[in-house]
Amino acid sequence: MKKLFLSCSVFFVLNSCFYSSPIRTIPLKRIWYTVDWNKRNEEAAKILQDLIRIKSVRSNELEVALYLQKLLRKEGIPSKIYASKKHPTRANLVAVLEPRRPYINKGIILGNHVDVVEADASEWSVPPFEGRIVNSRIYGRGALDMKGLAVMQLMAFLELKRSEVPIDRQVMFLSLADEESGSMHGARYMIREHADLFKDYEWMLNEGGVATKDVGIPGATIFNIQYAEKGNLWLKLKAKGASGHGSVPVAEYSALNLIRFYEKVLEFDTSIRITDETRTYFYQLGSVASFPTSFFLKNASNPLIRPLLSGTLRKNKHLSAMTSNTKAITGIRTEEGEGYNVLAGETFGKLDIRILPGFDTLEYAEKIREIAKPFGIEVEIFDEIGPDLSPLEDELFQILANVSVSKIPKSVAAPFLSAGKTDNARFRRIGIRCYGLNPAILEAKDTETLHGKDENISLENLKLGSMILFETLYQTMDL
Ligand SMILES: [Zn+2]
Repeated sequence: MKKLFLSCSVFFVLNSCFYSSPIRTIPLKRIWYTVDWNKRNEEAAKILQDLIRIKSVRSNELEVALYLQKLLRKEGIPSKIYASKKHPTRANLVAVLEPRRPYINKGIILGNHVDVVEADASEWSVPPFEGRIVNSRIYGRGALDMKGLAVMQLMAFLELKRSEVPIDRQVMFLSLADEESGSMHGARYMIREHADLFKDYEWMLNEGGVATKDVGIPGATIFNIQYAEKGNLWLKLKAKGASGHGSVPVAEYSALNLIRFYEKVLEFDTSIRITDETRTYFYQLGSVASFPTSFFLKNASNPLIRPLLSGTLRKNKHLSAMTSNTKAITGIRTEEGEGYNVLAGETFGKLDIRILPGFDTLEYAEKIREIAKPFGIEVEIFDEIGPDLSPLEDELFQILANVSVSKIPKSVAAPFLSAGKTDNARFRRIGIRCYGLNPAILEAKDTETLHGKDENISLENLKLGSMILFETLYQTMDL
């Protein structure tokens, strides 16, 4: 009895000490007119089919931009296409809705990318560039990533105009090129050459997170809103050593040195780190999980709970990436040699390191150099970009979370940290607060179609996403 009392007390103390949800419940303004979203969705589906049919595999964004420009023109919305002289087909499109009355608020950008990755038709059950509808789902490369989301944004954007909502801030529809291959012709080009376009904007809604159902927590629908991204540190390595004969190996030679160095790097900094923001992510998951998982998740940062949770986190590659600085060995190569019996004088390697917010990529590179020193390995930074983060205590983040969960009973919104990079990283660097959500509710098998085979979006999700984005924009207006 005493024991039970004690454990109950510990439970309540822990629960109350660490109770905190990152999402404030905010009253949503009533929308005073009705939109026939079923009808709008027929239009949305047709546009998405057209966009999928325009093959823009890491190229040809101009054709998409021209299509969108024509459509916007019909609605009386002017737009402009931007591309460098050298790469005129890698085009970006900008359209802006201007408030009718004088305004003081900074604007909001609906950011999307209209390039897609390759699709091997032989692996697909439907052709990847035909936009076919099968069982109320639109199939095709880009259906989710991210022509589908671009269409949701477009529907929301058009609805603001059509419904004559009295907007009090500028709203930009921004279609970017080249996101899938590093954004040289897209976000990076636009920010470098046309930064003025963005100076009156404070917010961006873009990709980065998705809503999931039955993923991780059975039965739960979770709107994973991306607020931060890890940093990238890509290192080029060169190990040197005496060349020699494979039959009489010396104690140290280049390939062996590199492997030993790799072992040391993998042993370095393996801690699971739960920041304030990640803690709130787990807390939200806990609020839709059943006991005892709910208890552990809600108290993730508690020093008594953390060791118990660490094992679970390490086993899941996504949760592990969210809570640790990861290091992946992405290359090992000796000089091209003739036979199996040569100790190469030089061995080359590659490391892909992803760093949590709060860490500095250059400082981290220095630590790796120190580990490399005893092995005589040269470490060169091939590319680096630091972590980036937008605040959770932000009106747009809170509105997006509240609007999203209002659509699905018992769903929850959670602040999501991406292991990978999107264009949000570029725009956060110029002071724009970016939040990433594709408000389509995906099951585990749907998430696998991203960059995979049979990518598709349900018509229901297309409608839901358009509604959520429109209502989010609506709520940001001081009506
Ligand atoms: Zn994407």
